[in-house]
Amino acid sequence: MHTLGQNPSLSCRFTTRSLGLSQENRPILLHETPAFASAPGGTLLIGGMHGDERATILILLSFQDRLQRSGRVSQSAPALGILPLANPDGYLHNTRYNARGVDLNRNFETGWSAQSEEPSGATPWSEPETRALRDFILHQRPARIVTLHWALAELDADGAQSTPLAQSMWNALSEAERAPYRLRVSESEAVFPTPAYCPGSLGQWCGTGLRYPDGCAPAIVTLELPYDPILPRPAVLPSDHLARLRQAWKQDARGYLSAIEGSVHKMLWAACEE
Ligand SMILES: [Zn+2]
Repeated sequence: MHTLGQNPSLSCRFTTRSLGLSQENRPILLHETPAFASAPGGTLLIGGMHGDERATILILLSFQDRLQRSGRVSQSAPALGILPLANPDGYLHNTRYNARGVDLNRNFETGWSAQSEEPSGATPWSEPETRALRDFILHQRPARIVTLHWALAELDADGAQSTPLAQSMWNALSEAERAPYRLRVSESEAVFPTPAYCPGSLGQWCGTGLRYPDGCAPAIVTLELPYDPILPRPAVLPSDHLARLRQAWKQDARGYLSAIEGSVHKMLWAACEE
């Protein structure tokens, strides 16, 4: 077992390639280790599906940077792919949606609904960004996927096969580090039944819709960053949780990031070696 940041021989070399183009022809970039590039499987980390959720992008870039900076390249570096910005047009326009006003995390096939509260696109897979991600996942067949969002302050495992991954990410944290989050690994703990909650999301598709040719399904955890990096998470979120995070981000993005970075990196590392 590797200890993040303490093993000087553990460093990851990453190469970068484009998985496809956004609606406005921006590349969707994947950074991958040689072990990830050379065989199916591995761990895939995704940020920036909603272009205005800046912390999800920056924290993946800082995680990658930390792995790159530590010492010599290790032969045992994990099979890891990092896709920090799944919605490059949304990032540029500082919006949740893509350039056509579609919420990409409602455009996946499983549970897709034309009546979704968020705009879900004309049909499942109508958007170039979701098609690029679908085609890549079908080709790479990652064993584990962690997708970052804000700000429900929880680890949300879709599908029974995802419980061990969520549990190992949770176990990587100290009691104090867990305080701003909750672990949600079964439907019975859901605030809303999942299908109504995030219809057509990546989590729905990977967790309950997708099967690889060998019959296996990927483990997927949606890591919802906390609306407050320090306060313990209440059982019921305040209705303005997202607005609170946006405000905190506007006032002191660096402060918010540095408060959550250590614990998020621990969870991401746990996902790499699960
Ligand atoms: Zn989001």
